[in-house]
Amino acid sequence: MSGIINFITNKKFINNSFKEYLRINFSFYRYFYIDEPLLFKNKLEKCFNKLNIFGRIYISHEGINAQGDILKKFFNKMKYFISQLDPQLNNININIGIDNTSRSFSKLKIKIKKKIVSDGLKNNFFQKIYKKKYLHAKQVNKYLKKKNVIFFDMRNYYEYRIGHFKNSISTYTFTFRDQLKSLLNYINFYKNKKIVLYCTGGIRCEKAASLIYNKGYKKVYQIFGGIIGYINECKNNNIPIKFFGKNFVFDYRLREYISKKILSHCNQCLNKSDYYVNCMNSKCNLLFIQCISCSKKYKSFCSKKCFHIFHQSLL
Ligand SMILES: [Zn+2]
Ligand SMILES: [Zn+2]
Repeated sequence: MSGIINFITNKKFINNSFKEYLRINFSFYRYFYIDEPLLFKNKLEKCFNKLNIFGRIYISHEGINAQGDILKKFFNKMKYFISQLDPQLNNININIGIDNTSRSFSKLKIKIKKKIVSDGLKNNFFQKIYKKKYLHAKQVNKYLKKKNVIFFDMRNYYEYRIGHFKNSISTYTFTFRDQLKSLLNYINFYKNKKIVLYCTGGIRCEKAASLIYNKGYKKVYQIFGGIIGYINECKNNNIPIKFFGKNFVFDYRLREYISKKILSHCNQCLNKSDYYVNCMNSKCNLLFIQCISCSKKYKSFCSKKCFHIFHQSLL
């Protein structure tokens, strides 16, 4: 008996078994022509199930967009498998999440879609000639100080609201479709400037960059790996982080911690807060920011009205 207790309390054993179950968040995308999305999906699904991967993956003729979590010990196996799936994927950049302490998905969902990012535009326009220009973290910091450079945040306003690069511009829109339209209007004012586009992992600004490039703006740059790529590069190379606040993520964590700075306010009392909540009244489901004192007062409801509707439905 005491042998077993010694075994269990052995620190090395606990650390090792902890490492054994450690999961990391990842994301990757690539725009490339997939001839048979269903065949591609089946191959991917078989392997991802074997590797016990959870996540949300979209496949279409225009490419793949994947977010998920995986046991750390299987990460290299996954990377190898992806690189073997198609020659176009063999040097793919896989972003590792910034905040890796918690699980992000509860199951694996792979869907075939018309587009991997819906843009409201005609098919695959962005596959036209587009010379990608990526900025790495050091260059990003340098460009942030330059007067002839404009940073555009290519995410939805609710993402921008809790975290962004200082002085970056949001188009204050809530869908990528609307954002592309606004971007085209906005950049008219910045014809002679260099334009840097960024989003969470790079997938949205790649489309946007290609769009404005084809409209005649040739001084367009993207941040390599998006916000996640930038933060990881800064952390790995001791480069000061110039992105402030939290990084919004589309899984149940809703945010990744980057800096203490709170850029947004509670929707209910206007105190500073950057905690997003989905209203508990499922018919409302509003995504809103709630501070700690309002969460005591209203629980996870956006209003007294929703609180009452929910509780009446239980009667
Ligand atoms: Zn509040
Ligand atoms: Zn509500």
